[in-house]
Amino acid sequence: MNLRLRYPLAALLAAFYLFFAAPLQAQNRVRPIDLPNKWNSLLQGNMPLVISAPHGGLNNLETVPDRTCDDAVTVTDVNTADLAVEIAERLQADHGLTPYLVICNISRKDIDPNRELEAGTCGNEKMQRCWEEFHGLIDGALREAVRQHGFCLYIDLHGHGHTEQRLELGYLLDAKELERFHRTGTLPTEGTSVDRLVRDSIDVTKLLFGPRAFGTLMAEAGFPSVPSRQDPFPQAGQKYFGGGYNTRRYTGPDYPNVFGWQIESNMKGVRDKNGRPLFAAAFSRVVVQMLQEQRGWKVPSAAR
Ligand SMILES: [Zn+2]
Repeated sequence: MNLRLRYPLAALLAAFYLFFAAPLQAQNRVRPIDLPNKWNSLLQGNMPLVISAPHGGLNNLETVPDRTCDDAVTVTDVNTADLAVEIAERLQADHGLTPYLVICNISRKDIDPNRELEAGTCGNEKMQRCWEEFHGLIDGALREAVRQHGFCLYIDLHGHGHTEQRLELGYLLDAKELERFHRTGTLPTEGTSVDRLVRDSIDVTKLLFGPRAFGTLMAEAGFPSVPSRQDPFPQAGQKYFGGGYNTRRYTGPDYPNVFGWQIESNMKGVRDKNGRPLFAAAFSRVVVQMLQEQRGWKVPSAAR
């Protein structure tokens, strides 16, 4: 190879390294720690944000019979564990912050940690211990975050296969309640996932439908969401998940300083390989903005 050809090749390799390889090396991979039996993993956080991924597990244990009780739903929310990890990487890279992550690694065929103990484990003793461990991790993370910051945002992260390609944000309101709330401005007095904010006299209409609502800001970033200013409530016939067991449990009376919502995410452009970094970047930016605007939280200077 003569010099004329070799030089552009070297330049090309150098450019490739600078633009692709170097940023990958510079950005630390976030590695949640497996608990001893590898059923669940935890990432220790340093900010008032706990994200759980109950349905992304792929490990179908041979020693545990597949769940069949109570019309068990056993479908995996594909890539939701990876999505949670990429969010953590983005928060670290952009803000020096780490959310707490609680990830269940066991297949939903064996356990559903987003159900009551009995329905979620179909009575299997080993999976009951797995369920208790998963919830013990969320409980510990929320209590520590509240101790350190006075409050905590809880996100239960899922994936849906519905036709409408959008994020479904579950505030423990069904489609009809969302529509009524949007039309009348009247919210059920208790039992939403943002009761904590209602008690603090934050205008929940704005929180769900306003220009600075989580759904509105995510939609502006390229991730259509319901509810949001652009798409306030599901239309008749459209499927919508309004929030499940985990959201109810961790934003309820036992956790008076926790608020949050369930995120049911579509696959294309969100959970797939190309979508995850984009979603993680938008989510990180919007969540930090919301914590600052609505809770007056300041990003610690040491974390920057
Ligand atoms: Zn799910």
